[in-house]
Amino acid sequence: MVDNINVYRINAGSCNGCDVELLASILVPKFGFDTLHCTYTNTPEEANIVIVTGSITTRFKPFLEATLKRLPDEKVVVAMGICPITGGVFRDSYSIEDPLDRFVHVDVNIAGCPPSPQTIVDGLIKACALWKEKVSECMNAYKGKITFDKEQCVLCQTCAFVCPAGAINISCVEPQKNYDFIIWHNTCTVCGNCTYFCPTGAITLSNTLAEATPQSEKYTSITANMVEYTQCPNCHEPMINVPLTMFKRGFKNVSQPITSLFKLCPKCRREHTFKQRVL
Ligand code: SF4
Ligand code: SF4
Repeated sequence: MVDNINVYRINAGSCNGCDVELLASILVPKFGFDTLHCTYTNTPEEANIVIVTGSITTRFKPFLEATLKRLPDEKVVVAMGICPITGGVFRDSYSIEDPLDRFVHVDVNIAGCPPSPQTIVDGLIKACALWKEKVSECMNAYKGKITFDKEQCVLCQTCAFVCPAGAINISCVEPQKNYDFIIWHNTCTVCGNCTYFCPTGAITLSNTLAEATPQSEKYTSITANMVEYTQCPNCHEPMINVPLTMFKRGFKNVSQPITSLFKLCPKCRREHTFKQRVL
């Protein structure tokens, strides 16, 4: 949820036409600037949206670049007026470095010389929507909830071994038959160690938010699975299924003889390999 969006403005060499229209779009209520929940800031580090007005003069370019570096990576860059968009009437001038997208990624162009307040507000609506998208992408990617795919698990227990918080519990229910695999979400630090060391990709940091839970769910916010052994089709000994993700990591081309071979238990596989020379 984004309550307020900070807008920072840089005048890179403007005639002030765009800046006057920008002011008009803010001061005249009928243009609806207030509904955008935007606030102007004088601090580049706080900016969510940056508006660049004016031609980028050769003298100003180093200052512009230095200021842009101070802004957060997730900013939305708006080029306002035809000067920063294409160079406008000053393009090809010896002292002009336009357009702006030659040296910084631009997200929204607000054309005009100068643009009308309505076009400015329309551009800001688009910039705000982009910013909200960027924020929700960050929210999704940041510290996602741990998920588990039992079909991919080979019960190596590496995840439980590397987990600094003891959030993963793997315990035998029936020897050589099945294991309980439990992730305690209220103990997990979301450090990603288990994901990094898991050889099969069975345990992953998802992009679903790790949710806050009520106190009543302190001990029930878990992911519980049972990982089962299969049987070797040759000798009927219990064995752990080898998931496809492991084949893909180990072999360039996963052919049918290879998948059949890995359906066998390690002992039968060894005998079969020596007899048939599959590998
Ligand atoms: S993310 Fe870190 S704390 Fe959470 S289960 Fe994995 S290793 Fe443990
Ligand atoms: S989730 Fe990965 S690391 Fe953990 S036991 Fe299964 S295969 Fe091993």
